[in-house]
Amino acid sequence: MLSQKQLENFAELAVRVGANMQPDQEVVIRCDVQCKDFAHLIAQKAYQFGAKYVSMQWRDEVLGRINMLNASKETLCQIPDYLVEQSKYYIDNKVCLISISAGDPNIMKGCDPDKLAAANIASLKANKEFRNATMSNYLRWTIVSIPTRAWAQQVFPNDDADVAVDKMWDAIGHIMRLDTDDPVAAWRQHIATLHRRAAFLNSHNFEYIHLKNNSGTDLTVGLATDHEWIAAEEKGQDGVPFTANMPTEEIFTAPHNRKINGTVVNALPLVSNGNVIDDFCITFRDGKVVDYRAAVGYESLKGILSSDEGVLSLGEIALIGKNSPIAQSGILFYNTLFDENASCHLALGASYPTTVKGGNDMTAEELSKHGMNSSLQHVDFMVGTKDIDIDGIDYDGNVVALFRNGEWVI
Ligand code: ZN
Ligand code: ZN
Repeated sequence: MLSQKQLENFAELAVRVGANMQPDQEVVIRCDVQCKDFAHLIAQKAYQFGAKYVSMQWRDEVLGRINMLNASKETLCQIPDYLVEQSKYYIDNKVCLISISAGDPNIMKGCDPDKLAAANIASLKANKEFRNATMSNYLRWTIVSIPTRAWAQQVFPNDDADVAVDKMWDAIGHIMRLDTDDPVAAWRQHIATLHRRAAFLNSHNFEYIHLKNNSGTDLTVGLATDHEWIAAEEKGQDGVPFTANMPTEEIFTAPHNRKINGTVVNALPLVSNGNVIDDFCITFRDGKVVDYRAAVGYESLKGILSSDEGVLSLGEIALIGKNSPIAQSGILFYNTLFDENASCHLALGASYPTTVKGGNDMTAEELSKHGMNSSLQHVDFMVGTKDIDIDGIDYDGNVVALFRNGEWVI
């Protein structure tokens, strides 16, 4: 368990390093009702650093399940106008968003996958404008995470709930560097290291990244024309830097959605809409998925891959060494925020306009010309095994080793 001081430091990290809230800004905290105590701590910190007003957007995963089991597909696909209006208010008022990602990874287990996928697509469509505002950094936002009971029990299945929650707080405390004297300073230093590597990758302007390991991954990922590798801190459209994921260990950019060839095998399970997909592989030709298999959760993977055209290509490639604190913890969190920072990953679906130079000012057509992918979806899945080798290949055909046996060599 963390001390009160450490919890306060954590809340401060979310406000100052994560969303980098500016004085007199409105703050919206989005989280499940189970996280209310920590949400209140964040609200206090926000005011301490000059927030204008803090409001909550509560979620309730248990009610979500009850609705999914009992309401009709038609009803679940009708997203009420007031929710869309609420998102518009957030955009119009340039609020600072702090999300707490925490919940039971299996909350939707046993629900109708067809209904789940339809409701998810309806929600994505209704929130398109809002999602654009976050993906293009118009709004500054961050995601942090804390344990919930059902989740901790899934992560530590051999312990009872109280012990599992304590263990998870300890793990998150270490990963968030809350066991250092000055977590804000520790994060600033970590962010500087990530930025140095991103600068190296950008200076080489690679045409392709090649990933290969012993479990069957042999994939060449072309990179978008004028792509830019981004790490940790990004600039909001207002020029104020922020760190969208806390923790973050990744350096990522956009693939070219017509230049991806080969097969990739997952390294960790993928949790999507409360379902676990595992032991799967996906084969690409000229940027498109042409084949896929999954020993666990095949129907869920099929549901994702049937949702639109763009989900059949990639929107992100991210590199993370196996010595990152999350990877070293050896814990499988069943939560993207942690697991994607434990392992190199790819994302099916939309790319971030920020990962190509000048992307925020480009039309959809211009983005597409650069090989940027568009989709309602953005589904990260982990591919970085302990033995993965990764090379960068530049436009002259020069090969530069980036990873050997799962760790950076630059
Ligand atoms: Zn990522
Ligand atoms: Zn991603």
